[in-house]
Amino acid sequence: MKKEMSWLFEGFMRKLIIAIDGPAGSGKSTTAKLVAQKLGYLYIDTGAMYRALTLKVIELGIDPGDEEEVIKVTRDTKIELLYENGDLRVLLDGRDVTEKIRSPEVTSLVSVVSAHPKVRDEMVKKQRELGKNGGVVMDGRDIGTVVFPDADLKIFMSADVKERAKRRQKEMKEQGFDVDIDEIINEIEERDRLDSTREVGPLKKADDAFEIDTTNLTIDEQVEIVLRKAYELINQNSN
Ligand code: C5P
Repeated sequence: MKKEMSWLFEGFMRKLIIAIDGPAGSGKSTTAKLVAQKLGYLYIDTGAMYRALTLKVIELGIDPGDEEEVIKVTRDTKIELLYENGDLRVLLDGRDVTEKIRSPEVTSLVSVVSAHPKVRDEMVKKQRELGKNGGVVMDGRDIGTVVFPDADLKIFMSADVKERAKRRQKEMKEQGFDVDIDEIINEIEERDRLDSTREVGPLKKADDAFEIDTTNLTIDEQVEIVLRKAYELINQNSN
């Protein structure tokens, strides 16, 4: 295809906004990342943004429950998501914190930091800015309900808590943290409870989201389901 023609063709191809929400360990990040790779879209991990902010709050010795202090830090913080050979790197004020934001300490406090309405306001603004041109797969808890309520495709991933804990344990082992499975189940249940019961932007399935229970699915199967739905939409629009 000639260069001008391919531009024309791409102009007709719709660049979708794909929202993937769900509880901890439901498989959304892995799925979102692979779907984005296949479509040539940007992957935006909004959990990583809340985690980076939480790390800064911890490092500054601020009380994570103090909304006014936390919002000051939020406004004074630069969080960047970069890609290096297909891997997401998270920069906090220019410093690479990709591994640090996955620590058990950050994980145990992130739901407290992310529950503050003013903090969410700031984060949602940044996330809308990052996704406004389409061609994005964004994962989190409130993407289909709050950040992009008009997203082209909304997916809600769920899975049995024991399965989610097993996946989390494997991931943590790979990162050098050896944690007991019951401890992980407790942590996941507590985080889900805090995330679903907060007043602003709670973890919730959007009414028009397509739900995928990933308990017995492989990653490839999850990716396949989302991609099929995405291609349906892309083809609808280019016909
Ligand atoms: O996705 P991940 O498990 O890394 O998210 C970490 C935490 O960040 C969640 O438990 C939740 O408290 C918060 N979060 C959020 N809203 C989002 C994404 C993540 O509140 N859109």
